[in-house]
Amino acid sequence: MNKKQKRWRNRILVALAIFVVVFALEETGTLTTMFGTPGDVYASFALFLIPYLIAGYDVLHKAWRNIRRGQAFDEAFLMTVATVGAFAMVLFPETEPHMAEGAAVMLFYQVGELFQSYAVGQSRKSISAMMDIAPDYANIEQDGQLVEVDPDEVQVGDIIVVKPGERVPIDGVVTEGVSQLDTAALTGESVPRHVEPGADIISGCINMTGILHIRTTKPFGESTVSRILELVENASEKKARTENFITRFARVYTPIVTISAVVLAVVPPILGMGAWSDWILRGLTFLVVSCPCALVISVPLSFFGGIGGASKLGILVKGSNYLELLSKVDTVVFDKTGTLTNGTFNVVAIHPESGVDPDYVLSNAAYAEAFSDHPIAISIREAYAGEIDQARIADAHEESGHGVSARVDERVVMVGNDKLMAEHGIDWHECKLTGTILHVTVDGTYVGHIVIADVVKEDAEQTIRDLHAAGVAKCVMLTGDRRDVAEAVGKQLGLDEVHAQLLPADKVSAVERLLNLEHGDAKLAFVGDGINDAPVLMRADVGIAMGAMGSDAAIEAADVVLMDDKPSKISLAIRIARKTMRIVWQNIIFALAVKIGILVLAALGIANMWLAVFGDVGVAMIAILNAMRAMRVKGV
Ligand code: ADP
Ligand code: MG
Repeated sequence: MNKKQKRWRNRILVALAIFVVVFALEETGTLTTMFGTPGDVYASFALFLIPYLIAGYDVLHKAWRNIRRGQAFDEAFLMTVATVGAFAMVLFPETEPHMAEGAAVMLFYQVGELFQSYAVGQSRKSISAMMDIAPDYANIEQDGQLVEVDPDEVQVGDIIVVKPGERVPIDGVVTEGVSQLDTAALTGESVPRHVEPGADIISGCINMTGILHIRTTKPFGESTVSRILELVENASEKKARTENFITRFARVYTPIVTISAVVLAVVPPILGMGAWSDWILRGLTFLVVSCPCALVISVPLSFFGGIGGASKLGILVKGSNYLELLSKVDTVVFDKTGTLTNGTFNVVAIHPESGVDPDYVLSNAAYAEAFSDHPIAISIREAYAGEIDQARIADAHEESGHGVSARVDERVVMVGNDKLMAEHGIDWHECKLTGTILHVTVDGTYVGHIVIADVVKEDAEQTIRDLHAAGVAKCVMLTGDRRDVAEAVGKQLGLDEVHAQLLPADKVSAVERLLNLEHGDAKLAFVGDGINDAPVLMRADVGIAMGAMGSDAAIEAADVVLMDDKPSKISLAIRIARKTMRIVWQNIIFALAVKIGILVLAALGIANMWLAVFGDVGVAMIAILNAMRAMRVKGV
């Protein structure tokens, strides 16, 4: 609790204590003995006014301010009218006095408000604690001394030093030092990651054991931490349909109930159906129930909790609308390379043309791939153990879905698939092996091909099984790779559909075709690692990008970003989304049912203000506690 909340709580406690004493004095008849009748009524009026004002003076003040601004119908206004009305019942001497109720309504309304404020603060705190990954300095070495500087001032390519216990402030590559990194805040992964010189490091991880020297590869503002914080901060702006619905609903509900309250208080007594005091009291009870606080606060809080809980596990959801869409996903479309397979290809075989040295094929391929970020390129460079002298390369060019070309020592080298060969009218040799085939040509002459194979990710098969178990009807894989490779992976993983040899544009039309097959409310999610997937990520109902290390374009285009490369996070994300939506609907239905119940009872004269205020505050508390469950994602 912060200071303001503590003062608030103390004020409520003082008011409550006085209220209890006054209530006891009245109930035991002490007031009557002391002041006689009707003096006791005026005494209790004055005495109940004390706790009422202590607890509610700020509410009265707010109501007054809003009325002057012409903004009636807010909670403060409704509470003020209801409680002032209850006190004013003293003007009807023939009825029982209702000052106790007036004071009690104000007291419990404040208890509910305080609780809300505490709950919101609590969940905000847990998110910011989780998101407390932004380091406010970076160490750089100057004249043999470590100096702390603003991470914004560090240039790309500078060497920063991260000591054990510190957070890595900026993305980069280790140049010196060996250590263990705690990545839990980013990926939810509890096993520390071992790093040594050459390893890529993302900001936000905690350096655990050794001193690391890191050459930065990004400015602070574009580093992983900054991007994550930006995503989380903006998430609350993208509201779910349900959330908007509740806001609109509250705007209608409150005036309707208020008008009904007036009608209820005025019409029946005019028609001679009973005493004024009785009907006015029923109207006041309506006012107490007209406050939609339970809904207005608990629904956004649930979404907030769901997004926060997901981010604890390394799943970044860019808005509550995506959480809502995710809960309705019945088709999941995967990209293959880097998504279902780990994207590091092993060279299975090199098949040179007769008279060609296999090393010649591999070295030319590695040179041509020197500037590509594609997983294939990275793997080929890895397989070619030698140094690559970039000065020998010119005119590097990449054609997505086809391959690459570059001039190496004045000779044009092309590396790519059948499509690339066909495009340039070059004959190639078929290969009997199953795998991705990279044809290599030098100055238009076919020199042979390299067969590479990718390994499916450890948790890929389980993911597909989990998705099916969670009621996802269709798991589809799209790939630019060869059909035999695609079908082998499809069979191994138990996918429902596989589409191969697609260019990036074909992937968009494949997704569009699948979108057309969706019925009713069902949604389609596309999962890609982002290397040339951005258009598809945008087109799908929910675009999920894998691996924060994937391309920046994908993280921009995606609606959900998985920090690590594990496909199993997809089924987890869907389960979190569904749990959140379940909680949201539980709260909506529960709160409305109780409110409507009390309204009916109040209209019939069965429910009094006591019940109304306990119903209202009680429902709000239960709904808020329920909403906070959305934050807990362990064992979802
Ligand atoms: P996926 O759909 O599996 O993610 P891509 O669309 O990225 O694959 O690529 C499809 C195919 O295009 C690859 O299987 C490969 O044959 C060819 N290709 C793409 N990029 C390259 C590259 N850099 N070098 C060689 N071949 C490539
Ligand atoms: Mg790809």
